[in-house]
Amino acid sequence: MTTPFTATVLGLPRIGPKRELKKAVESYWAGRIDADDLAEQARALRERQLRELADAGLDSIPVGTFSYYDQILDTAVMLGALPERYATVDEPIDQYFAAARGTEELAPLEMTKWFDTNYHYIVPEIAPATTFSLHPEKLLAELQEAKTLGVAARPVVVGPVTFLKLAKAVGSDEPLIARVAELVPLYVDLLGQLAAAGAEWVQLDEPSLVTDLNPDELGLVRSTYDALSAAENRPAILVATYFGRLGEAASALASVEGIAVDLVAGSEPDAAALKGKHVVAGVVDGRNVWRTDPDRALAALASLEGVAASVAVSTSCSLLHVPYSLDAERDLDVSLRSWLAFGAEKVREVCALASAHGSAGHEPAELELTRAAFGARRNDPRLRRAEVHDRLAGLKDIDRQRLPAARRRELQAEHLGLPLLPTTTIGSFPQTARIRTARADLRKGRIDQDAYVRQMHAEIDEVLHLQERLGLDVLVHGEPERNDMVQYFAEQLDGFAATANGWVQSYGSRCVRPPILYGDVTRPRAMTLDWIGYAQSRTDKLVKGMLTGPVTILAWSFVRDDQPLSDTADQVALAIRDETVDLERAGVRVVQVDEPALRELLPLRAAEQRAYLGWAVDAFRLATSGVADETQVHTHLCYSEFGEVIEAIAGLDADVTSIEAARSHMEVLDDLNDVGFDLGVGPGVYDIHSPRVPSVEEMVASLEAALKAVPAERLWVNPDCGLKTRGNSEVEASLHNLVAAAKQVRTHA
Ligand code: GLN
Ligand code: ZN
Repeated sequence: MTTPFTATVLGLPRIGPKRELKKAVESYWAGRIDADDLAEQARALRERQLRELADAGLDSIPVGTFSYYDQILDTAVMLGALPERYATVDEPIDQYFAAARGTEELAPLEMTKWFDTNYHYIVPEIAPATTFSLHPEKLLAELQEAKTLGVAARPVVVGPVTFLKLAKAVGSDEPLIARVAELVPLYVDLLGQLAAAGAEWVQLDEPSLVTDLNPDELGLVRSTYDALSAAENRPAILVATYFGRLGEAASALASVEGIAVDLVAGSEPDAAALKGKHVVAGVVDGRNVWRTDPDRALAALASLEGVAASVAVSTSCSLLHVPYSLDAERDLDVSLRSWLAFGAEKVREVCALASAHGSAGHEPAELELTRAAFGARRNDPRLRRAEVHDRLAGLKDIDRQRLPAARRRELQAEHLGLPLLPTTTIGSFPQTARIRTARADLRKGRIDQDAYVRQMHAEIDEVLHLQERLGLDVLVHGEPERNDMVQYFAEQLDGFAATANGWVQSYGSRCVRPPILYGDVTRPRAMTLDWIGYAQSRTDKLVKGMLTGPVTILAWSFVRDDQPLSDTADQVALAIRDETVDLERAGVRVVQVDEPALRELLPLRAAEQRAYLGWAVDAFRLATSGVADETQVHTHLCYSEFGEVIEAIAGLDADVTSIEAARSHMEVLDDLNDVGFDLGVGPGVYDIHSPRVPSVEEMVASLEAALKAVPAERLWVNPDCGLKTRGNSEVEASLHNLVAAAKQVRTHA
């Protein structure tokens, strides 16, 4: 029998502590370095990381989670499942990048969210004609590399069930999972090669097992793992599940030696399923930034003894989702810092917990520190501000309600005097180099606040002037002052902290630096009033105030884990509400509260979705019900496939909702009708994701199509999303055509 290990993590970040891989990959794309240079830089990064993890004391280290772009794309390559069209590209590495990001001639594969995280993976396309074949060179090479370094390596591969669940079937409606039997012989072959290369354990990542699976799917999980376990020459199999509770699927894993369970997002599966197994206990949160409560973790480990054959301490999921190390943070508040654990610190926690668990009674000093920090955090006054709690406790239903929508429509028609099919935009205008330079100059002290304000006012004037010239009905100030729609607010609210280097991979070479929401949230002063008030003072037209909604602010931050998310959402909602009231007082009569991430926090299990949508909608309504019924509330959602979320959109009760629709032919309007949605709606009539200027005719056609589903009194005319990534000239031409299209349709709508 293989030796069970005691301390591990489920996967590793790869972008590099200083984003070295991002820079290397982008240099390769730009032709500044060649493929060998790229490979060497990547190898050096991996070597350094493996040495650090081994030195820290992990006795089993994941290998193969490195990726130039994405692990699901790597798996598609390993299984010979890249679509044919990329074969026209010369080198394999360039085929890979072509699939990831497209070329002049070739569209990339789609990208979508990795479960409920902020990481995005590349969606493999699998056609009936796709034949799978095994190409394990990358994994074998990384395993060999680790062995050469003398590291206790555990190869990690995305499991066949998750791979097929996440891939997209093209040219067939049959669920791909039905083809899992085609993958089994390839995985058997792979297991044999890994065993031959000296792997004692292999980790098969199956996060899809924490989602709802039907009986057929569960049957396929069982038969797949029975077949893999029956392979003659193979390492011990560890099936890694994460991001939720491993429920029904646990019993389908009867034949494997090890199961990794997420004890942060979920709880233990039935004891029967763990009996006799090596259980890798995810007690250290792999996707949030807080130190672990050692007593809770040790209790969870203790409860597994007596059930499992052996227990290892682990992170709940890969460390892909947290920054590398606190060492790179010099300016964090000292006590906040002591509450935090990034990747390197989590590895230390895992090792300390493993040694405490292994030698009952004898605790390493590290744990004592953790315990002290944990206690200090709990008692910090910034986590419990009386004024916030009093206000939350005093909330009544009426604070989340406005007059019925039809009544508001009448009041607003009178108050705002808008034409039929009003035209507007989603908020941002092109973030030109000039704008970015001004923000950087202010940050670095090269210009003072006055000079900055003067320049931003000039930018706002220009954008207002352009919109007036084009004849738009509801204007925006253009958001020149915003680096990012969440960070901008996080920087101004109390209860949030920013990191200097807390980069996390979002997709490919793109990284984000999420703010840390650590305490009770308050708004020391107005956040947008100066800019939007200024804009409204410069024009007789309506200016729409622009805010980010509470759910989106939560979704794109690291959020405190010591109170229900719903409470945190309400705190943020109150701050946004106060801002809307300030804007209204300053004469702003239209406010937009963006919730592009509404769907992103949706729980993976259907049974938990209703509760989430309930509080998410409540928080939005709390944020938007403070204004008078004459004031028009808009919201913006960045996509058109709402699925389970569709009813919640009606629940938001925003007077106007703008959504993506240009790429999906207005189908979303029928979905909205199906749930009785009867508010204003602005289905995007042009796709801002491309520089192409849409013609008047095509936007007229979109509007005509929309009018089949929505009466003219409720229809708005706007682009799909904000314009910040576009250039000035195409924006001007596109909006010119948009206004012309609206005018044309108005004459007969
Ligand atoms: N108001 C934001 C903008 O226009 C909305 C961005 C978004 O939906 N992601 O940029
Ligand atoms: Zn959008």
